[in-house]
Parts: sequence; C-alpha cells; structure tokens
Amino acid sequence: MKKGSLIPNLKLSLPPPDEISFSKFLTQSGTFMVDDLLVNGDGVRIVTQSEVEAPPPIKPSDDQLSLADLDTIKVIGKGNGGIVQLVQHKWTGQFFALKVIQMNIEESYRKLIAQELKINQSAQCPYVVVCYQSFYNNGVISIILEYMDGGSLLDFLKKVRTIPEPYLAAICKQVLKGLLYLHHEKHIIHRDLKPSNLLINHRGEVKITDFGVSAIMDSTSGQANTFLGTYNYMSPERIVGGKYNSKSDIWSLGLVLLECATGQFPYSPSEQSEGWANFYELMEAIVEKPPPSAPSDHFSQEFSSFISACVQKEPKDRPSAHELMTHPFIALYEDLDIDLSSYFTSAGSPLATL
Ligand code: ATP
Ligand code: MG
Repeated sequence: MKKGSLIPNLKLSLPPPDEISFSKFLTQSGTFMVDDLLVNGDGVRIVTQSEVEAPPPIKPSDDQLSLADLDTIKVIGKGNGGIVQLVQHKWTGQFFALKVIQMNIEESYRKLIAQELKINQSAQCPYVVVCYQSFYNNGVISIILEYMDGGSLLDFLKKVRTIPEPYLAAICKQVLKGLLYLHHEKHIIHRDLKPSNLLINHRGEVKITDFGVSAIMDSTSGQANTFLGTYNYMSPERIVGGKYNSKSDIWSLGLVLLECATGQFPYSPSEQSEGWANFYELMEAIVEKPPPSAPSDHFSQEFSSFISACVQKEPKDRPSAHELMTHPFIALYEDLDIDLSSYFTSAGSPLATL
C-alpha cells in the first residue's frame, strides 16, 4: 500500500482501551497517532517515518475529532445544563465523555463562547480533565472530554458517605495541583468548584472539570435559562455581586472538603422554609454568618486549620493554592502512602465501562 494514501474503512486492531496509553498517540489537536497511522475525521492515513518523527503542521482538516466517529454507549450523567454520555471512538475503541448542552446562543455571544471553549481545550495538566474538541451546532454545544471512569466526587460521596482524612489529604493535594495550574499558569478562575466537578478514575486520579463552562453560563445568563445550578459553594463576595478573584475557588474548596469529611453540606438547611425561601436563607447565611468549621473533636488540628484558612470571609485572608500546598494538612498523612486507586475502586466504580 502506498504510504500517505487514505484508507477510509481500515479497522484498527488495538489493545483494550484500558491498556492504551492514550497520550502516546493523541496529538494536541485531537488527531490520533497510532504507530505510523494517523486517525482523524477524514479517516486513517499512513504517515511516513519522517512525519512520525517530526509531525507536519496540523492542517485544519486534521484538527478534527469528529462527532460522527463516536458511538454512543450510554448516558452517564445529567447536569442542569445538559447530559453527559459515554462514547467510544469507532477507530481506536477509546472512550470519551461527551457533554451536550442545549443552548440557543445569540450571535453576539458566539464569539465569547468560542473563546471560552478554546481556553478549555488549551488546558494541559494531569489534574484537569482534558477537553479534546468542542462544537456548536443548531443550539447544541458538544464537548468531547476525557472519560473519568469513577464518575464525580459527588457520585463517590453518595456511596461512602464520608471520606477519612488521610484519603481526603491525598484528594486535596491533587485538586490543589489542578487549581495551581488554573490560577497561577492559566489565570483562570473556575467559579463552579463543587463535588460534581471533581472527577475520579480507577488509577486514583482526581481532576477538575467544567472550568469555562460556568463562565459561559455566567456571560449568557439571560439566555442560559437552563442554568439553575447550585450556588451552594459560591463565595460570599460572589453572592453579593462584588469583584472576585481566584480566592473565590479557595472558598469553594474549603466547603467541598468539609462536606466530604462530615458527609453533610456545611450550612444546614432551615426546617421551615423550602425552595426559593431556603435558597435566599442559604445565601444570607453564607454572607452574614461566621464561616463553618471542622469540629475539633472529630478532626485533626491540621485539617481544621486548613478548612478555616480556606473559608475566611475576606478573600485576601484566604491562602492561594500555592500557599496551601505547603499547609501541614497536606503533609500530615504522606507517610501512609495512601492508595487512592484501590480506595476508589473498592467502593465500586459507578460507571464501570461496559
Ligand atoms: P451542573 O450542571 O450544575 O454543573 P453537574 O456538574 O452535576 O451539575 P455535569 O457537569 O453535566 O453536571 O455532570 C453530570 C455528571 O456526569 C457528573 O456528576 C459525573 O457523574 C458525570 N460526568 C461529567 N463529566 C464526566 C467525565 N468527563 N467523565 C465521566 N463522567 C462525567
Ligand atoms: Mg459539572
């Protein structure tokens, strides 16, 4: 067969998806490289050895991981804005998560959304869920994401109820590394850090997802009427509509960790009120009341101090992700060599693939 020719119907024989080190052959643009085969929306092409060593500049047609090449396996999650499906790439067998958000976007917002999606795609960090490609078509935004087979920390928490401190420290360290990357390298504020936006997998990895999506929701607030997402983890300065910065994510991190440790959202809902009344009460409590804390009789002094540092009401009093990396809580259980992989899998993966 002539090198460089297109072979549209070639079936690839690959090891099980689990054994494929995907990063080995997925180029930055979402084009697959398997040995000397280049797979993209146009089909499969054999590339010459010199191309393998020094890949040619990506042409627009190579820059596609096409939706048509993905088979839907099942719906794995539902959010307020849309659904998340497990999909499989026809050529390679690789799994992805496909997030589909229904949103009729006015012309004037489209550029902004395209920009946000680009930011998503440009993020490259082991602690941030990879976004391979995104599309907007007929009122539907489709985002092809790295598939995290353990689901979200919210799913996990529902099973285990509480997460013991040593595991929490290991989880927290990974989230901090993700935040370090977003805040200090990419200068992105997540704005919607919560248990359902922290995803886990059988390798014991924890990754942040959905940054940028919340920016889209914010900037199109009038139109994105589907966005009734939770405001529970929102910092006081955001609730009052003031200026906010990356410290707003640190507040959310504090609440998420406290919830994982105690098994309860730190602000308890009022018994009398429901719905909107309850919602306003919660917002009021976050703004007016002293911040929550970890009960010292149940938790280490290091954990309590970490939480209190995160949930300072004044953003400037909260440490940065960088500063939190050196907090004693992070090092407290390091000698135990915590194995998150077996911890996550022993609880049973909610999304076991097939
Ligand atoms: P909201 O819409 O308020 O942000 P949410 O974060 O729960 O809520 P989604 O982001 O749509 O909504 O995610 C819904 C669920 O889908 C998650 O809780 C998780 O179980 C699953 N999920 C999302 N992304 C992935 C992924 N990349 N891999 C595996 N599962 C995922
Ligand atoms: Mg989410």
